[in-house]
Amino acid sequence: MARSEVHDQLDRPLKDLRISIMDRCNFRCTYCMPKEVFGPDYAFMDSEELLSFDEIVELATAFAHLGVNKLRITGGEPLLRKDVAQLIHRLDGIDGIEDIALTTNAVMLPRLAQPLKEAGLRRVNISFDALSVATFQQMSGRKTKPEAVIRGIQAAKEAGLGVKVNMVVQRGVNEHEVIPMAQFCKDERVTLRFIEFMDVGQTNGWDFSQVVSKKELYERVSTIAPLRAQEEDYFGEVASRYAYEDGSNVEVGFISSVTETFCGTCTRARLSADGKLFTCLFSERGTDLKSDVRNGMSATQLRERIRSIWNLRADRYSELRTNESAKQRKKIEMSYIGG
Ligand code: SAM
Ligand code: SF4
Ligand code: SF4
Repeated sequence: MARSEVHDQLDRPLKDLRISIMDRCNFRCTYCMPKEVFGPDYAFMDSEELLSFDEIVELATAFAHLGVNKLRITGGEPLLRKDVAQLIHRLDGIDGIEDIALTTNAVMLPRLAQPLKEAGLRRVNISFDALSVATFQQMSGRKTKPEAVIRGIQAAKEAGLGVKVNMVVQRGVNEHEVIPMAQFCKDERVTLRFIEFMDVGQTNGWDFSQVVSKKELYERVSTIAPLRAQEEDYFGEVASRYAYEDGSNVEVGFISSVTETFCGTCTRARLSADGKLFTCLFSERGTDLKSDVRNGMSATQLRERIRSIWNLRADRYSELRTNESAKQRKKIEMSYIGG
Protein backbone atom coordinates (compact mmCIF):
# COMPACT_ATOMS: atom_id res chain seq x y z
CA MET A 1 0.00 0.00 0.00
CA ALA A 2 1.29 3.48 -0.84
CA ARG A 3 1.53 5.27 2.51
CA SER A 4 2.19 8.96 2.80
CA GLU A 5 3.12 10.31 6.20
CA VAL A 6 1.40 13.42 7.42
CA HIS A 7 2.88 15.88 9.92
CA ASP A 8 1.23 18.57 12.01
CA GLN A 9 2.27 22.14 12.80
CA LEU A 10 4.71 20.89 15.43
CA ASP A 11 6.12 18.27 13.04
CA ARG A 12 4.46 15.36 14.83
CA PRO A 13 3.49 12.46 12.55
CA LEU A 14 0.10 10.76 12.75
CA LYS A 15 0.82 7.25 14.01
CA ASP A 16 -1.90 6.05 16.40
CA LEU A 17 -5.65 6.06 16.18
CA ARG A 18 -7.87 5.49 19.19
CA ILE A 19 -11.32 4.44 18.16
CA SER A 20 -14.20 4.66 20.60
CA ILE A 21 -16.79 2.11 19.55
CA MET A 22 -19.33 2.60 22.34
CA ASP A 23 -20.27 5.57 24.50
CA ARG A 24 -22.09 3.44 27.10
CA CYS A 25 -20.46 1.64 30.00
CA ASN A 26 -21.41 -0.93 32.64
CA PHE A 27 -19.40 1.04 35.24
CA ARG A 28 -19.85 4.54 36.59
CA CYS A 29 -16.30 5.39 37.64
CA THR A 30 -16.41 8.56 39.69
CA TYR A 31 -13.53 10.10 37.75
CA CYS A 32 -15.01 9.33 34.33
CA MET A 33 -18.80 8.82 34.27
CA PRO A 34 -20.09 9.89 37.69
CA LYS A 35 -23.55 8.39 38.19
CA GLU A 36 -25.00 11.74 39.28
CA VAL A 37 -24.40 12.91 35.69
CA PHE A 38 -24.60 9.65 33.73
CA GLY A 39 -27.88 8.58 35.35
CA PRO A 40 -30.94 6.76 33.97
CA ASP A 41 -31.98 9.84 31.96
CA TYR A 42 -28.63 10.44 30.34
CA ALA A 43 -28.95 10.66 26.55
CA PHE A 44 -26.54 8.10 25.16
CA MET A 45 -26.18 7.64 21.40
CA ASP A 46 -28.81 5.72 19.44
CA SER A 47 -27.44 2.73 17.57
CA GLU A 48 -27.71 4.52 14.21
CA GLU A 49 -25.60 7.37 15.56
CA LEU A 50 -22.71 4.99 16.21
CA LEU A 51 -20.31 4.38 13.35
CA SER A 52 -21.10 1.00 11.79
CA PHE A 53 -18.32 -1.58 11.42
CA ASP A 54 -18.12 -0.78 7.68
CA GLU A 55 -17.68 2.90 8.49
CA ILE A 56 -15.04 2.23 11.15
CA VAL A 57 -13.07 0.06 8.71
CA GLU A 58 -13.36 2.68 5.98
CA LEU A 59 -12.04 5.39 8.27
CA ALA A 60 -9.29 3.23 9.77
CA THR A 61 -8.14 2.39 6.24
CA ALA A 62 -7.88 6.09 5.41
CA PHE A 63 -5.82 6.66 8.57
CA ALA A 64 -3.58 3.69 7.73
CA HIS A 65 -2.85 5.29 4.35
CA LEU A 66 -1.65 8.36 6.22
CA GLY A 67 0.82 6.42 8.36
CA VAL A 68 -1.24 5.07 11.27
CA ASN A 69 0.08 1.65 12.23
CA LYS A 70 -1.42 1.25 15.71
CA LEU A 71 -5.07 1.08 16.66
CA ARG A 72 -6.51 1.17 20.15
CA ILE A 73 -10.16 0.24 20.61
CA THR A 74 -11.81 1.99 23.51
CA GLY A 75 -15.04 3.58 24.75
CA GLY A 76 -17.14 3.79 27.01
CA GLU A 77 -16.81 0.09 27.47
CA PRO A 78 -15.83 -1.37 24.08
CA LEU A 79 -16.79 -4.93 25.01
CA LEU A 80 -20.44 -3.86 25.23
CA ARG A 81 -20.45 -3.46 21.46
CA LYS A 82 -22.05 -6.50 19.86
CA ASP A 83 -19.72 -8.66 17.75
CA VAL A 84 -16.62 -6.71 18.75
CA ALA A 85 -14.38 -9.67 17.75
CA GLN A 86 -15.65 -9.40 14.18
CA LEU A 87 -14.62 -5.77 14.10
CA ILE A 88 -11.13 -6.63 15.39
CA HIS A 89 -10.80 -9.26 12.67
CA ARG A 90 -11.67 -6.73 9.99
CA LEU A 91 -9.35 -4.07 11.39
CA ASP A 92 -6.54 -6.62 11.57
CA GLY A 93 -6.91 -7.13 7.84
CA ILE A 94 -6.15 -3.48 7.00
CA ASP A 95 -2.87 -3.04 5.17
CA GLY A 96 -0.37 -1.16 7.33
CA ILE A 97 -1.99 -1.90 10.70
CA GLU A 98 0.66 -3.65 12.78
CA ASP A 99 -0.84 -3.57 16.23
CA ILE A 100 -4.33 -3.56 17.71
CA ALA A 101 -4.95 -3.13 21.42
CA LEU A 102 -8.09 -2.66 23.47
CA THR A 103 -8.79 -0.85 26.74
CA THR A 104 -11.44 -2.41 28.96
CA ASN A 105 -12.71 -2.74 32.49
CA ALA A 106 -12.33 -6.53 31.93
CA VAL A 107 -15.69 -7.64 33.28
CA MET A 108 -16.63 -9.26 29.96
CA LEU A 109 -13.23 -10.75 29.22
CA PRO A 110 -13.94 -14.25 30.59
CA ARG A 111 -16.36 -14.68 27.68
CA LEU A 112 -14.57 -12.61 25.06
CA ALA A 113 -10.81 -12.95 25.58
CA GLN A 114 -10.45 -16.09 23.46
CA PRO A 115 -12.55 -14.90 20.47
CA LEU A 116 -10.77 -11.53 20.58
CA LYS A 117 -7.37 -13.19 20.49
CA GLU A 118 -8.45 -15.42 17.62
CA ALA A 119 -9.70 -12.33 15.78
CA GLY A 120 -6.24 -10.73 15.88
CA LEU A 121 -6.21 -8.70 19.08
CA ARG A 122 -2.75 -8.63 20.62
CA ARG A 123 -3.03 -6.72 23.85
CA VAL A 124 -5.49 -5.51 26.43
CA ASN A 125 -5.07 -2.69 28.89
CA ILE A 126 -7.26 -3.42 31.87
CA SER A 127 -8.42 -0.60 34.09
CA PHE A 128 -8.38 -1.65 37.72
CA ASP A 129 -8.23 0.86 40.55
CA ALA A 130 -8.54 -1.07 43.81
CA LEU A 131 -8.39 -4.54 45.30
CA SER A 132 -10.52 -3.87 48.34
CA VAL A 133 -14.22 -4.37 47.73
CA ALA A 134 -15.27 -1.09 49.35
CA THR A 135 -12.83 1.12 47.42
CA PHE A 136 -13.42 -0.72 44.16
CA GLN A 137 -17.18 -0.31 44.42
CA GLN A 138 -16.89 3.30 45.49
CA MET A 139 -14.73 4.14 42.47
CA SER A 140 -16.52 2.03 39.86
CA GLY A 141 -19.92 3.23 41.05
CA ARG A 142 -21.31 -0.32 40.82
CA LYS A 143 -21.79 -3.35 43.06
CA THR A 144 -19.46 -5.49 40.94
CA LYS A 145 -16.67 -7.06 43.00
CA PRO A 146 -12.97 -6.71 42.14
CA GLU A 147 -12.85 -10.49 41.61
CA ALA A 148 -14.76 -9.91 38.35
CA VAL A 149 -11.81 -7.90 37.05
CA ILE A 150 -9.33 -10.45 38.35
CA ARG A 151 -11.19 -13.18 36.44
CA GLY A 152 -10.94 -10.97 33.34
CA ILE A 153 -7.19 -10.55 33.82
CA GLN A 154 -6.77 -14.30 34.15
CA ALA A 155 -8.92 -15.02 31.09
CA ALA A 156 -6.84 -12.58 29.01
CA LYS A 157 -3.61 -14.22 30.14
CA GLU A 158 -4.95 -17.69 29.41
CA ALA A 159 -6.02 -16.60 25.94
CA GLY A 160 -2.45 -15.45 25.25
CA LEU A 161 -3.20 -11.72 25.15
CA GLY A 162 -0.58 -9.28 26.40
CA VAL A 163 -1.96 -7.71 29.59
CA LYS A 164 -1.22 -4.42 31.28
CA VAL A 165 -3.20 -3.05 34.18
CA ASN A 166 -3.92 0.68 34.43
CA MET A 167 -4.71 2.25 37.79
CA VAL A 168 -5.87 5.85 38.12
CA VAL A 169 -4.71 7.11 41.50
CA GLN A 170 -6.78 9.74 43.25
CA ARG A 171 -5.62 11.38 46.47
CA GLY A 172 -7.67 10.35 49.48
CA VAL A 173 -9.66 7.82 47.44
CA ASN A 174 -7.42 4.90 46.46
CA GLU A 175 -3.89 5.94 47.29
CA HIS A 176 -3.86 3.31 50.05
CA GLU A 177 -4.28 0.71 47.27
CA VAL A 178 -1.01 1.60 45.56
CA ILE A 179 1.17 -0.96 47.32
CA PRO A 180 -1.42 -3.81 47.39
CA MET A 181 -2.09 -3.28 43.67
CA ALA A 182 1.63 -3.20 42.86
CA GLN A 183 2.15 -6.38 44.85
CA PHE A 184 -0.86 -8.08 43.24
CA CYS A 185 0.29 -7.26 39.70
CA LYS A 186 3.83 -8.33 40.52
CA ASP A 187 2.52 -11.68 41.76
CA GLU A 188 0.37 -12.00 38.62
CA ARG A 189 3.44 -11.04 36.54
CA VAL A 190 1.62 -8.26 34.72
CA THR A 191 2.80 -4.68 34.27
CA LEU A 192 0.91 -2.17 36.38
CA ARG A 193 0.83 1.41 35.11
CA PHE A 194 -0.13 4.16 37.48
CA ILE A 195 -2.01 7.02 35.83
CA GLU A 196 -2.18 10.48 37.33
CA PHE A 197 -5.79 11.61 37.74
CA MET A 198 -6.45 13.98 34.81
CA ASP A 199 -8.60 17.04 34.26
CA VAL A 200 -10.53 15.52 31.35
CA GLY A 201 -14.20 16.36 30.91
CA GLN A 202 -16.39 18.69 32.92
CA THR A 203 -17.98 16.31 35.35
CA ASN A 204 -15.37 14.65 37.56
CA GLY A 205 -14.70 17.65 39.80
CA TRP A 206 -10.96 17.52 39.11
CA ASP A 207 -8.66 19.50 41.31
CA PHE A 208 -4.85 19.43 41.36
CA SER A 209 -4.89 18.50 45.05
CA GLN A 210 -6.36 15.10 44.05
CA VAL A 211 -3.42 14.23 41.83
CA VAL A 212 -0.86 11.82 43.28
CA SER A 213 2.27 12.61 41.29
CA LYS A 214 4.50 10.15 39.48
CA LYS A 215 7.33 11.19 41.82
CA GLU A 216 5.33 10.24 44.89
CA LEU A 217 4.08 7.00 43.33
CA TYR A 218 7.63 6.08 42.34
CA GLU A 219 8.84 6.62 45.89
CA ARG A 220 6.08 4.44 47.31
CA VAL A 221 6.57 1.59 44.84
CA SER A 222 10.35 1.60 45.36
CA THR A 223 9.69 0.37 48.89
CA ILE A 224 8.72 -3.02 47.38
CA ALA A 225 12.06 -3.34 45.55
CA PRO A 226 14.52 -0.90 43.94
CA LEU A 227 13.44 0.15 40.44
CA ARG A 228 15.66 0.29 37.35
CA ALA A 229 14.62 2.59 34.47
CA GLN A 230 13.97 0.84 31.14
CA GLU A 231 14.70 2.17 27.66
CA GLU A 232 11.78 3.71 25.74
CA ASP A 233 10.13 0.95 23.66
CA TYR A 234 9.03 3.25 20.85
CA PHE A 235 8.94 6.94 19.96
CA GLY A 236 6.29 8.73 21.98
CA GLU A 237 5.78 6.03 24.63
CA VAL A 238 3.71 7.72 27.34
CA ALA A 239 4.61 5.51 30.30
CA SER A 240 8.03 5.61 31.89
CA ARG A 241 8.83 2.00 32.63
CA TYR A 242 10.91 0.47 35.38
CA ALA A 243 11.87 -3.09 36.28
CA TYR A 244 11.87 -4.33 39.86
CA GLU A 245 15.48 -5.12 40.72
CA ASP A 246 14.73 -8.32 42.57
CA GLY A 247 15.05 -10.86 39.78
CA SER A 248 11.27 -11.03 39.31
CA ASN A 249 11.48 -9.70 35.75
CA VAL A 250 8.28 -7.67 36.24
CA GLU A 251 7.87 -4.05 35.15
CA VAL A 252 5.90 -1.16 36.54
CA GLY A 253 5.05 2.06 34.69
CA PHE A 254 4.02 5.62 35.46
CA ILE A 255 1.93 7.83 33.20
CA SER A 256 2.57 11.32 34.44
CA SER A 257 -0.13 12.97 32.36
CA VAL A 258 -0.36 15.97 34.67
CA THR A 259 3.02 16.59 36.31
CA GLU A 260 5.05 16.05 33.14
CA THR A 261 4.06 16.73 29.58
CA PHE A 262 4.49 14.61 26.49
CA CYS A 263 2.74 16.72 23.87
CA GLY A 264 6.03 17.02 21.94
CA THR A 265 5.82 13.37 20.90
CA CYS A 266 2.02 12.99 20.75
CA THR A 267 1.13 11.15 17.55
CA ARG A 268 -2.42 10.18 18.60
CA ALA A 269 -5.73 10.95 16.92
CA ARG A 270 -9.08 10.00 18.43
CA LEU A 271 -12.30 8.99 16.74
CA SER A 272 -15.45 9.20 18.85
CA ALA A 273 -18.13 6.53 18.63
CA ASP A 274 -20.23 8.87 16.45
CA GLY A 275 -17.39 9.50 14.05
CA LYS A 276 -15.86 12.81 15.14
CA LEU A 277 -12.13 13.24 14.83
CA PHE A 278 -10.33 14.84 17.77
CA THR A 279 -6.68 15.77 17.53
CA CYS A 280 -6.20 16.07 21.31
CA LEU A 281 -7.74 14.55 24.43
CA PHE A 282 -8.54 18.09 25.49
CA SER A 283 -10.00 19.35 22.22
CA GLU A 284 -13.13 21.42 22.59
CA ARG A 285 -14.67 20.09 19.38
CA GLY A 286 -14.13 17.41 16.79
CA THR A 287 -14.59 17.20 13.03
CA ASP A 288 -17.55 15.17 11.83
CA LEU A 289 -16.18 12.46 9.54
CA LYS A 290 -19.28 10.26 9.83
CA SER A 291 -21.27 12.64 7.65
CA ASP A 292 -18.51 12.59 5.07
CA VAL A 293 -18.55 8.81 4.99
CA ARG A 294 -22.36 8.66 4.92
CA ASN A 295 -22.47 11.25 2.13
CA GLY A 296 -20.33 8.98 -0.02
CA MET A 297 -17.00 10.80 0.09
CA SER A 298 -14.41 8.84 -1.88
CA ALA A 299 -11.46 7.15 -0.18
CA THR A 300 -9.06 9.71 -1.65
CA GLN A 301 -11.17 12.67 -0.55
CA LEU A 302 -11.50 11.22 2.93
CA ARG A 303 -7.77 10.75 3.20
CA GLU A 304 -7.10 14.32 2.03
CA ARG A 305 -9.65 15.66 4.49
CA ILE A 306 -7.91 13.89 7.37
CA ARG A 307 -4.54 15.03 6.07
CA SER A 308 -5.62 18.67 6.07
CA ILE A 309 -7.00 18.41 9.62
CA TRP A 310 -3.77 16.86 10.90
CA ASN A 311 -1.66 19.41 8.98
CA LEU A 312 -3.38 22.18 10.95
CA ARG A 313 -3.00 20.49 14.34
CA ALA A 314 -1.16 22.56 16.94
CA ASP A 315 -2.59 21.00 20.15
CA ARG A 316 -0.42 20.90 23.26
CA TYR A 317 -2.88 21.23 26.10
CA SER A 318 -0.72 19.56 28.76
CA GLU A 319 1.95 22.16 28.19
CA LEU A 320 -0.60 24.95 28.57
CA ARG A 321 -2.67 23.42 31.39
CA THR A 322 -1.85 26.08 33.94
CA ASN A 323 -2.56 28.95 31.60
CA GLU A 324 -5.85 30.76 32.24
CA SER A 325 -7.44 30.31 28.83
CA ALA A 326 -6.61 26.57 28.84
CA LYS A 327 -8.27 26.24 32.25
CA GLN A 328 -11.48 27.75 30.89
CA ARG A 329 -11.82 25.22 28.08
CA LYS A 330 -15.04 23.30 27.72
CA LYS A 331 -13.58 19.81 27.67
CA ILE A 332 -15.06 16.68 26.16
CA GLU A 333 -15.84 13.73 28.46
CA MET A 334 -13.35 10.86 28.47
CA SER A 335 -16.14 8.30 28.01
CA TYR A 336 -17.11 10.08 24.76
CA ILE A 337 -13.72 10.76 23.26
CA GLY A 338 -12.21 7.42 24.40
CA GLY A 339 -9.29 7.25 26.83
N1 SAM B 1 -14.02 1.43 29.81
C1 SAM B 1 -12.70 1.15 29.42
C2 SAM B 1 -11.77 1.17 30.59
O1 SAM B 1 -12.13 1.72 31.64
O2 SAM B 1 -10.67 0.65 30.44
C3 SAM B 1 -12.17 2.03 28.31
C4 SAM B 1 -12.51 3.50 28.34
S1 SAM B 1 -11.82 4.42 29.69
C5 SAM B 1 -12.44 6.04 29.33
C6 SAM B 1 -10.12 4.50 29.25
C7 SAM B 1 -9.14 4.84 30.33
O3 SAM B 1 -9.34 6.17 30.72
C8 SAM B 1 -9.25 4.01 31.59
O4 SAM B 1 -7.99 3.41 31.89
C9 SAM B 1 -9.59 5.01 32.66
O5 SAM B 1 -9.06 4.67 33.89
C10 SAM B 1 -9.00 6.27 32.09
N2 SAM B 1 -9.58 7.50 32.63
C11 SAM B 1 -10.87 7.89 32.61
N3 SAM B 1 -11.01 9.09 33.23
C12 SAM B 1 -9.77 9.45 33.66
C13 SAM B 1 -9.25 10.57 34.36
N4 SAM B 1 -10.02 11.58 34.75
N5 SAM B 1 -7.93 10.61 34.62
C14 SAM B 1 -7.10 9.60 34.22
N6 SAM B 1 -7.53 8.53 33.54
C15 SAM B 1 -8.85 8.44 33.27
FE1 SF4 C 1 -16.50 3.04 32.13
FE2 SF4 C 1 -13.94 2.96 31.63
FE3 SF4 C 1 -15.09 5.29 32.23
FE4 SF4 C 1 -14.87 3.47 34.13
S1 SF4 C 1 -13.18 4.50 33.06
S2 SF4 C 1 -16.72 4.64 33.64
S3 SF4 C 1 -15.05 1.58 33.01
S4 SF4 C 1 -15.47 4.09 30.43
FE1 SF4 D 1 -1.51 14.77 23.04
FE2 SF4 D 1 -3.27 16.68 23.69
FE3 SF4 D 1 -2.41 14.96 25.54
FE4 SF4 D 1 -0.74 16.84 24.58
S1 SF4 D 1 -2.60 17.19 25.78
S2 SF4 D 1 -0.26 14.66 24.91
S3 SF4 D 1 -1.44 16.95 22.44
S4 SF4 D 1 -3.62 14.46 23.73
